[in-house]
Amino acid sequence: MSLAAKLVLNVHDLNNERAEEIRTVPVIYEVNGRWKIVSEAVAVSGQMLKHWHLASMVNIAEARDLIDKVGFCGRCRKREGIRVSRDDAVALAKRLSKQPKNLTEKDIIEACAGEDVHGFLLTNPITIRRESLVRFSWMLPCFLEEALESSGTVTPYKVVIHTRNVRAPGKGASDASSSETRDEGGLTSEEYQSERRTPEQMPFYRSYASGIYGFISTADLAHIGFSFNDLEPIGNKERVMLRRKLLIEAYAPMLSGLGASLSRALPASAILELMVVFSDGPLPAPVHPIYPSYLERNIRLYHDQAKALGSNLMVFLWTKEPTDLMNREAEFPRLRIVGSPVGWIGEVI
Ligand SMILES: [Zn+2]
Repeated sequence: MSLAAKLVLNVHDLNNERAEEIRTVPVIYEVNGRWKIVSEAVAVSGQMLKHWHLASMVNIAEARDLIDKVGFCGRCRKREGIRVSRDDAVALAKRLSKQPKNLTEKDIIEACAGEDVHGFLLTNPITIRRESLVRFSWMLPCFLEEALESSGTVTPYKVVIHTRNVRAPGKGASDASSSETRDEGGLTSEEYQSERRTPEQMPFYRSYASGIYGFISTADLAHIGFSFNDLEPIGNKERVMLRRKLLIEAYAPMLSGLGASLSRALPASAILELMVVFSDGPLPAPVHPIYPSYLERNIRLYHDQAKALGSNLMVFLWTKEPTDLMNREAEFPRLRIVGSPVGWIGEVI
């Protein structure tokens, strides 16, 4: 499957892979038939999107009490992006009554949906590598003329200083008869001064940005539960089906831009456009929403390809504003307009 989504994200901090840094990248836009370079635009890495997708898979499995049926290792259950440590591999080998050096890719993906769907690299006690079946582009901002004119970038952003208010421990607070001057936290002025000399938490800086963003993703559903090293599928077919469903459903929470720093920067977000394509043949990555007419370009691309390869195809489209594509289902017979941004999930599962 392939997916392209466009959404507005207001005042977000979704790209904090490192503290105190706003992640900007150069982006080349196509504006009125000409190329335009914006050298610094706030973007969110595909690595971050991939992490949210994994976390979303685990969240859904947990909510349905499917963790054991689907299979998730301890690290994936903790929503950690680093999959399979040496210790995990040794423990798995022990469970399978195998020597650790005889572990196979098939053993590892059978045990964990995270490793199966999102890939892994194990280097000790044996080297095994699996590529991710799910791929994400960077979440890039769309061109916004007004923002560029007013702020010099398509994603206006501000650095904000946060302070944490630390309530001082109430040492001596119960000693109400004391004549010493105490502050509200119960500290003597001397103790208070010493607290001030060694503050527990410093002010910290965070950057917040706003913009209209797009991302694309592809997922190889056919190879879930299939080991590329052993060239055979895992034995548990129910597990494979459950993982396919989870993979698809895990996109839904991402359509609101959920992710990092949510306690103080849950984005004010709204999904604007979404296109999802399913095919029984290979699918090229879709044209990214930063390009004009990306929906029409994609629909044309996928229809042409299906015709050329003789593959079955279904394109689901949702847009907030009506588009002329809605009246062209005759021209694009594999196009299906859906009534909500997650309306396609029920139809494919
Ligand atoms: Zn795992």
